[in-house]
Amino acid sequence: ETFNSLSLSRPVIKGLAALGYAKPSPIQGAVVPIALLGKDVIAGAVTGSGKTAAFMIPIIERLLYKPANIASTRVIVLTPTRELAMQVADVGGKIGRFAGSLSFGLAVGGLNLRQQEQALKLRPDIVIATPGRLIDHIRNSPSFTVESVEILVIDEADRMLEEGFQDELSEIMSLIPTKRQTLLFSATMNARINQLVSLSLKKPVKIML
Ligand code: AMP
Repeated sequence: ETFNSLSLSRPVIKGLAALGYAKPSPIQGAVVPIALLGKDVIAGAVTGSGKTAAFMIPIIERLLYKPANIASTRVIVLTPTRELAMQVADVGGKIGRFAGSLSFGLAVGGLNLRQQEQALKLRPDIVIATPGRLIDHIRNSPSFTVESVEILVIDEADRMLEEGFQDELSEIMSLIPTKRQTLLFSATMNARINQLVSLSLKKPVKIML
């Protein structure tokens, strides 16, 4: 299997090649085609499986295929830590390097709040966030909104719950339109994850490798 056989666009294939990704990892091969159909996905995936590209590829394909006519934040990726958010932004930026003028923004704790606010005012296409800081921005930045979000990714959902972000997750999901695609990744599955899934995903396709 190659990235070509997943029917990806030229710019995305170019971005993947520049990253040194020659062929899809198993999780990418399984998640990308389902996510490209617009379906909700719950995927069992650990760090090192290539899960970041598994959600970034379909996100970038969708933004390319359906450009927006006004600046709006169309994708939120939630991660449990600032470090992971920065890694996700880095990989996303690299995959999207040849995909026109996609913009990325960070909303994470521990970085300058005002600077982030200025950046989020421009409504980046893709915002990578930790839950607490994202809520700060939604509450305090009048020009930033999640009302136009079409895709929500919950990365490392098990760690997110371990860090105590349950209430923040619920609040964020209540603010993002329900007519959205949700992709949830977790290294482990348990009752609390199942509860989160039933609250936030619609008829999800389960991918356990
Ligand atoms: P992740 O699970 O997303 O953190 O990725 C783990 C590591 O695998 C990272 O160092 C990626 O650069 C690398 N990687 C992800 N997908 C591929 C691929 N299709 N081919 C080669 N390396 C990859």
